[in-house]
Amino acid sequence: MICASGSIVPRDRSAGNASIWLPGLLRFGSNFRFSIEQAGASLVHNCSLYRVMIRIVLLIVGLLAVLAPTCLLAQDGRPHSVLVLDQSNLRGPFYYQLSSGLREVLDTEGQITVYGENLDLTRFGGAAYEESLKRYLKEKYRDRSIGVIVANGAGTLDHTLRWREELWPGVPVVFAMLEVTQLAKLGRLANVTGVAIKNPLADAIKTARTVVPGLDTIVLVGDSWDRQSLFRHWGEEIPTATSGLMVIDLVGQKMSNILKRVAELPERSAIVYSGVFSDGAGTYYPAATAMRLIAEKANRPIVVGAEPLLAAGAIGGYSLIAKEIGAEAGRLALRILNGEQAGNVPPVTQESKPLFNWKQMQRWNVSESSLPEGSEIRFREPTFLEQYRWESMAVASAILIQAGLIIFLLHERHLRRNAEVESHERMSELAHVNRQATTGELSSSIAHELNQPLGSILTNAETAELILKSDKPDLGEIREILADIKRDDQRAGEVIRRLRGFLKRTPFETRDIDLNEVMGEAFKFLSVQASARNVALYLQTAPGALRIKGDPIQLQQVILNLVVNSMDAMATIPYGRTVIGRTELNGGSSAVISISDSGPGIPADKLAQVFDPFFTTKEKGMGIGLSIARTIILAHKGQIWAENQSGGGAAFHFTLPLVA
Ligand code: ADP
Repeated sequence: MICASGSIVPRDRSAGNASIWLPGLLRFGSNFRFSIEQAGASLVHNCSLYRVMIRIVLLIVGLLAVLAPTCLLAQDGRPHSVLVLDQSNLRGPFYYQLSSGLREVLDTEGQITVYGENLDLTRFGGAAYEESLKRYLKEKYRDRSIGVIVANGAGTLDHTLRWREELWPGVPVVFAMLEVTQLAKLGRLANVTGVAIKNPLADAIKTARTVVPGLDTIVLVGDSWDRQSLFRHWGEEIPTATSGLMVIDLVGQKMSNILKRVAELPERSAIVYSGVFSDGAGTYYPAATAMRLIAEKANRPIVVGAEPLLAAGAIGGYSLIAKEIGAEAGRLALRILNGEQAGNVPPVTQESKPLFNWKQMQRWNVSESSLPEGSEIRFREPTFLEQYRWESMAVASAILIQAGLIIFLLHERHLRRNAEVESHERMSELAHVNRQATTGELSSSIAHELNQPLGSILTNAETAELILKSDKPDLGEIREILADIKRDDQRAGEVIRRLRGFLKRTPFETRDIDLNEVMGEAFKFLSVQASARNVALYLQTAPGALRIKGDPIQLQQVILNLVVNSMDAMATIPYGRTVIGRTELNGGSSAVISISDSGPGIPADKLAQVFDPFFTTKEKGMGIGLSIARTIILAHKGQIWAENQSGGGAAFHFTLPLVA
């Protein structure tokens, strides 16, 4: 056991002093020896027999002193140091991951010294090399106490077991990555446990069949089987694992040849890559580096059996996960460091797991559903949503907020529309009442307007009767009289039609109309009233039509209200009562209508109030005429205002947008 040589170290080798390294034990041993010596000296002074006896006793005590710490160490555990012997040369990714898995587990248990040596067995071999390695290790670790040796790879285990007796006698060994069939061949080894791996070639062939439907050819690529550490057993498994398939064997070939061959493989073939470590012409590299070179040229998918090869361009396969193997070895090493006997710790087996490369799956059109159960897919390219998660969420939120706003605004618009419709209805009703009132005011002139044609009709009818009573009735004159009657009837009919139209209770309805026509109609309607009230009514219309979108009845009502107000305002002036109506173009986009009079005007402080509802200065006024006029104009998207003219009298103006 290396415990004896490592735990008790000569303190001063040059002096050959046999003092003991552990201070407590040293004290115990030295003091004890010293007291026995003193006792012996005092009891049997100068007595040779007793001296011999005392020497024997001292020898026994010395032996006890040497053995006692050994026994104590066994109880407390082994030296907390691990020597990792690695088969690799360049610390390739597989061994790097294995070491990190091992280290992570060892680090959980406080201070453990880890030594590491790369035996470089994939590049170097032979008796001389082995001998030099052994000498090197022997010399290097002469003074180091080793608790456990971790041997990575079958070749390393082989060397370790051969050297152990000489270099590290009795030190337990934990192997990592010994293939299960190889382990079975070795049988149970003394003071050895470890992590066996299970990665049969049959699994690689199964993967090849999955990724290449109708597979008929397997292409084996790798260094010669005896140089392999993880896949050495594949060489023996070829006949059974590939039965029924054609095999293109490129194992052990030069890299240049491999690169040429893999570029022109048959359609239904797949490459099974075990690991190439050299180009065959003196350059060595890790298996993943060679894999990259091959993947660049290969025209068929590459199946692998070790995790780091996945990133190098393989499609995937049942792969050994180095970190897990390392961690498992670490756990076994810890158990032994903590006092368990390696021989009592059974080896554990790590099986390869189906890992696949998402990018290569896309390249070779392999669907996720065709993969073996429990497959893990690596290097999956994130979807657009995954890649721009926050940005997408921000945009989606913005869209949602916008959508919410739009819905809110639409709802608002709907409510406003409803309110507008309702207010238009109310306005129409009010306007109707206002019209009825206005018509009441105008009733005398309406009657007058009707009386005129009716009177003429009567006179003409009587004249016709007289003519007919004569002996020779003048039929030509009768015909003329009848024509007059007809015309007067039409005039009366026109008055009634206009009145009916004006009094009609109609909803607010806009249509394409000519403002000049509306103004002309209203003024015609007002003409009789105007002459009855001794008012001169003038109308000046803009040349050409003023096309707007509006309700003609309601606009006529506005004009009527303004003109009647003017006539009311001028009632107190004895003469010169004039109302002028004017339509003009106001720029290119609207028309302006003005009604001005020669009345007293509006007191300056009342100019803003005249449009307020129920504002009136008239004895029998209601104060709603101008308020309704403003509502109607606003509903037509126009504006209305009042002013006093510089030469006297009030002027009311309103604008209306022209049809584009
Ligand atoms: P009402 O005619 O019932 O009084 P209106 O709203 O039509 O109601 O008019 C409100 C007030 O505006 C009138 O009472 C009057 O004082 C003033 N007004 C309107 N038009 C004129 C005008 N042309 N000249 C002077 N004052 C006017």
